[in-house]
Amino acid sequence: MSNILIWFRNDLRLHDQECIYRSVSAEPKHIIPFYCFDDRTYTKTSFSFPKTGQFRAKFIIESVTDLQKSLKKIGSNLIVKKGKTEDKILKIVEQYQISEVYFSEEATAEEIAIEKKLTTILEKNQVKVKTFWQSTLYFPDDLPFSIKELPDLFTHFRKQVEKKAEVYTTFKTPSSLPPLPANIDVGKIPTLSDLGLKEFEKDNRGVLTFVGGETEALHRLKYYLWETDNISSYKKTRNGMLGGDYSSKFSPWLAQGCLSPRLIYTEIEKYEQERVKNDSTYWLIFELLWRDFFRFTCLKYGNSIFHKSGLQNIDIPWQENQDLFELWCEGKTGYPLVDANMRELKTTGFMSNRGRQNVASFLTKNLGINWQMGAEWFESLLIDYDVCSNWGNWNYTAGVGNDARGFRYFNIPKQSKDYDYQGDYLRHWLPEIETIKGEKIHEPWKLSKEEQKQFKVQLGVNYPRPMVDFFKSVKHNEKVYLANTP
Ligand SMILES: Cc1cc2nc3c(=O)[nH]c(=O)nc-3n(C[C@H](O)[C@H](O)[C@H](O)COP(=O)(O)OP(=O)(O)OC[C@H]3O[C@@H](n4cnc5c(N)ncnc54)[C@H](O)[C@@H]3O)c2cc1C
Repeated sequence: MSNILIWFRNDLRLHDQECIYRSVSAEPKHIIPFYCFDDRTYTKTSFSFPKTGQFRAKFIIESVTDLQKSLKKIGSNLIVKKGKTEDKILKIVEQYQISEVYFSEEATAEEIAIEKKLTTILEKNQVKVKTFWQSTLYFPDDLPFSIKELPDLFTHFRKQVEKKAEVYTTFKTPSSLPPLPANIDVGKIPTLSDLGLKEFEKDNRGVLTFVGGETEALHRLKYYLWETDNISSYKKTRNGMLGGDYSSKFSPWLAQGCLSPRLIYTEIEKYEQERVKNDSTYWLIFELLWRDFFRFTCLKYGNSIFHKSGLQNIDIPWQENQDLFELWCEGKTGYPLVDANMRELKTTGFMSNRGRQNVASFLTKNLGINWQMGAEWFESLLIDYDVCSNWGNWNYTAGVGNDARGFRYFNIPKQSKDYDYQGDYLRHWLPEIETIKGEKIHEPWKLSKEEQKQFKVQLGVNYPRPMVDFFKSVKHNEKVYLANTP
C-alpha cells in the first residue's frame, strides 16, 4: 500500500483543500501532512530588509499551530521542520516509503524554483508528484483564454471571466485522516527567535488583532457576513482607514491560504440568497478578481513583475536616496496622511488599501524613489503580504504595470480630506499633531505662528515640515517619467 506526503505551503487549511481531498480518495495507508519553515523565506530582501518580518512570521506560526491542532482532531498530525524543504521531504520519503507527494502550485520564481528542485529529487527517487492549483477563485484551465492571452487590462479580464467562466464549488473538508506512521518525528514549531526575529508587544492602535489560522479565518468570515452584515455596506465603507470593520480584513488569511477565496464566494452567494444582494456584496467578489488577475499576470509575465522596468519594460531613472527613503519608512515626511499610514504599517504590519495607494504614490510620484524599495519594505512588514498582489499593485502604482495609464498621482492633501474628513485617523497615529483642531490637521504647514502656538505644534521641531513641495515634486517627476516613456 502506498503512502502520500502532503506538502503544505500557502494553503494552510482543511476546507476546500484539494491536496487532502485527492489524497484521501487515493486511500493510501498513511497520509503525512508536512510543513517546512524554509530558511530561504527568512533571509533578507535585496535592499536588506527581513524577507519575512515579525508580524507575518508570527501570523504564520499561529496558522501552522492551528493547522496542526485541526489535523490532530481528525486523527492525523502535522510534521513541522525548519531548513530546506526539499532536504526535509527527502528524508521522510526515504524513511517512510512515500510513493507520492502532493502540493499546491505557486506563481512566482522563488516558489517555483523550490517546486522544481523538489520534483527533480523526487523523480530521481521514483516518487510521483501531483500538483494542484488552489489559490484563486477561478482555475487557470477554466479561464475563457489561455494564460498567454490573458488580457493586460483588468476590465477586459473581469468582463470576460464574469461572462464566460464559473467558480467551482469548494472541496469537502475531511472528517478523518489515516494516522501517521508510528514513532515518526513530528518536529517542533519554531518561535520567532528560532527564525531570527524579535518578540514584540502588540500595539493596541491596530485595526484588528490578527490571529493566524483557519479557525480565526472562518470566524472572521462568519463575523463579516452573518454576524454583522458588514458585507452589505462594504462598497460604502471600503475606503476607510480606521477600525476593524471598514473592509473585510480577509487578506492575511487569504495570503497564507487559511481561507479559500472560493469559500468566500460560496458564502457570499448564500448571503445574497438569504439576506441581501447589492452592489456591496458584488464588490467584494470584484476585489477578489483583482487578486486573481495579479496572480494570473504573474503566470503570464514571469519575473518581469519584479524588474525595475516592470511589466511595461520602461526605464525610469529612479532615485535611491536612503535618507529620503527612511523618512518615508519612518512616517516623517511632513504629510500627515503618508506619515500616519507608514507608522501604522511599521507598528502593526497592516495598512488600508486607501493608505497603500497614497503612500506608494508619494514614494514614486513625489520622491521619485525606486518603487522596488517600497515594494520590499511592504514585503517585509505586511502581515498580508502576497507576492502577486504586492508586486502587481506596486507595478501599477509606480506606472510601470502593463495597464498603466501614464503618469497618475494621488493628491495627498485632497485624499486626506476626502477620506478622513474629521482627521480622526491622523490623530490616531500622530500624537504630535493631535491637538490641531478641525480640517487644519490635513495641512499643518499652513498653520500660522499663532496657530502653531495655540495647538502646541512646532513645525520643523516636533513635527516635520513637508520634505518636498507637493506640486513642484509631482511636476518634476512627471517630466522625468514622460521623458522616458514612449
Ligand atoms: C502598493 C500596494 C500593495 C499591496 N500589497 C498587497 C499584498 O501584499 N497583499 C494583499 O493581499 N493585498 C495587497 N494590496 C491590495 C489591498 O490593499 C489589500 O488586499 C487590502 O487592503 C486588504 O484589506 P482587506 O482584506 O480588508 O480588503 P477588502 O477591501 O476587504 O478586499 C477583499 C479582498 O480582495 C482582495 N483585494 C482587494 N483589493 C485588492 C487589490 N488592489 N489587489 C489585489 N487584491 C485585492 C484581497 O484579497 C482582500 O482581502 C496592495 C495594494 C497596494 C496599493
